Amino acid sequence: MPDSNPSLFTVTDLKQFIYCQRILYYQTCLPDVRPVTLKMKMGQQRHEDEPKRALRRTMRIEGIESAKRDFDVPVQSDELALSGQIDEVLIFDDSLLVVDYKLAKRVGQHFKVQLAAYAMLAEATFDLPALRGILYLIGKREAVEVTITMRLRNQVKRALDEMRQITTTEAMPEPTSNRRACIDCEFRRFCNDV
Ligand code: SF4
Repeated sequence: MPDSNPSLFTVTDLKQFIYCQRILYYQTCLPDVRPVTLKMKMGQQRHEDEPKRALRRTMRIEGIESAKRDFDVPVQSDELALSGQIDEVLIFDDSLLVVDYKLAKRVGQHFKVQLAAYAMLAEATFDLPALRGILYLIGKREAVEVTITMRLRNQVKRALDEMRQITTTEAMPEPTSNRRACIDCEFRRFCNDV
């Protein structure tokens, strides 16, 4: 979360919350326990950004020729109290298409919710509807189209409400029920019950 406005979440916060609610708790209520230094985080971000940038030049989406392409687009909604930066927004005459590039091999639910949040923020920023988005799996060079359904939008709003509840009460949430998520989790040594 940006320090300037503690009530403003980022889409990355949201994605991590969907992955495991406890990660948000550690990051916001116990920020000192995070075992990753700023330098490591920046190095990791650069590592993820480079293949994204290279790929943008080659990606092909149907109808892309008629769209204006904006990259690394900062977006914010006061209504949602949410901000983020979208990898790419395709701006058509009457609609938007948001694109998120992923190094992952498959599309998880948390990626879809993240994409829906980006779509909602893009709508607030450009005042055009964003009814679909694309998750681009870099390794497989595969574009997965995702419809931004009302269900996904409600999931974003519900998650934001729950996130606010955690940061307000500072109550530690239950661990994720998907214990496979714990295998590579950087917070695993702090979770004694998984
Ligand atoms: S180890 Fe598991 S329960 Fe603990 S924060 Fe990580 S994903 Fe969540």
